[in-house]
Amino acid sequence: MLLIDPDTVEATNLNRLVGATPGDVGAAKVNVAARQVKAISSDVEVVALQGDVANDEVARALLETDFIFGCTDSMASRAVLNQLAYQFLIPCIDMGVGIHVVDGDVRFIAGRVQMLSPGLACLVCTDKLDFEQVRREMMTEAQRKADPYIQGEAVPQPAVISLNSTVSSAAVTMFLAAVAGVPSAARMLTYDGKLGTMRAVGMDPRAGCVACAEEGGLGRGDRWLLPTRRGS
Ligand SMILES: [Zn+2]
Repeated sequence: MLLIDPDTVEATNLNRLVGATPGDVGAAKVNVAARQVKAISSDVEVVALQGDVANDEVARALLETDFIFGCTDSMASRAVLNQLAYQFLIPCIDMGVGIHVVDGDVRFIAGRVQMLSPGLACLVCTDKLDFEQVRREMMTEAQRKADPYIQGEAVPQPAVISLNSTVSSAAVTMFLAAVAGVPSAARMLTYDGKLGTMRAVGMDPRAGCVACAEEGGLGRGDRWLLPTRRGS
């Protein structure tokens, strides 16, 4: 297993970070996750890589893998994983949960689990990428400071472990269906936390899509640049 994450454990994360204890505050999250995996089975080979998958050298570490779980909370890293999945033919299951709060009122709790693999619609086809946000997140610190359209700091988004684990469990079932014959046909699921429903969604790839079509990035490998951040 190759585990990738840029963050360190904060005291406020402890209620939703499986395996982390107060003694881990300040430690890399990937090291906590690696320790947890090793505690379950010492036979598993685990590599912990602390870094942002939107950075080129970090993204390229994924080229050694056979399957990717995308559990990121940034648009830039989603865009990279989406492209990588189709360009290098490494299937990926992208997942996420959003809790939308307006004036203290929870407007919606929306989760999504989506397999990214040839023949299946990608995140561009399903309109899940906000390219303006991708552009902003891809900026270096200096570029961000100079950009007139970026004001203030990012507002922390609420996260709840029960919602995260609902979506991640659905992703693991989807993985088992794809690789181990578990009879479950869905390759894209949406979860509505307020209604308490999960449903399978069918969406066709768009003809000529820049990421997932043959005219686009499909199978191009190293003949195309990944949409990653280079330099600092
Ligand atoms: Zn597409």
